[in-house]
Amino acid sequence: RGTPNSVLHIDDVHKSFAGLHALSDVDLDVREGETHAIIGPNGAGKSTLLNVCVGRLKPDRGAVVFDGTVLTGKTPYEINQLGVARVFQTPEVFPDLTVLENVMVPGLSKRDGQFTLDPFKHMRLEKELREEAEHVLESVGLQAQLSDNASVMSRGDKRRLELAMGLIQKPRLLLLDEPTAGMARADTNATIDLLKKIKEGGMTKVIIEHDMHVVFSLADRISVLAGGRIIAQGTPEEIKVNPKVKEAYLGE
Ligand code: ADP
Ligand code: MG
Repeated sequence: RGTPNSVLHIDDVHKSFAGLHALSDVDLDVREGETHAIIGPNGAGKSTLLNVCVGRLKPDRGAVVFDGTVLTGKTPYEINQLGVARVFQTPEVFPDLTVLENVMVPGLSKRDGQFTLDPFKHMRLEKELREEAEHVLESVGLQAQLSDNASVMSRGDKRRLELAMGLIQKPRLLLLDEPTAGMARADTNATIDLLKKIKEGGMTKVIIEHDMHVVFSLADRISVLAGGRIIAQGTPEEIKVNPKVKEAYLGE
């Protein structure tokens, strides 16, 4: 199902909340290796769409297919194990763990099955995992905060931590819900650079973003949601001049 090279295929998805149509007739294909941005005014249904993709919400109709596997009906954990990682709009980190431990946890779950009671093998795996977590944390610029408690971090730092928690899983598909929200401009730019680097590595990404500077610096293709419907789709150049898109944003 879906177009050739499609990694994520969203097929005719509908979702209502007590009569409010948060998503209607949503069809979308994300191609292998691309950075696909989903933009749209507040309340357009962007987060709802992401939550449907990761199994947090069940669509009323339609299906989400990842790499040939129907995700609809699977749990968030099962979907994650298939290679889909996400960064939520509200950062979700383990508040009682250190920054380093927060990244080791998803790294550990990715290595499910590799663990062993052999103390020497166990120590080696733990050392590898720690080094990998340190490396990922350095790439997001949190190397100075490894032993800080996650609960004391700023919102912007929590987002970077969550990004590191996604990256250590080396997912096939990374879904990001407004990864730069709440960040100062310098941190936003650092995050854009980081996401560009990840893109060079070939990881497929869906990024929900409000900040047009971020969108136009990163996206290969853009889908525009408004009132729960996709009103336009295309390259950044096409979207920039699309009159329907301008109209959708005028009400903001
Ligand atoms: P966006 O992320 O584009 O700002 P959302 O997907 O968060 O939009 O919301 C789309 C619409 O669905 C909004 O009108 C919002 O109020 C509504 N909505 C989202 N989640 C829920 C929910 N759990 N219960 C009821 N209404 C919701
Ligand atoms: Mg949202």
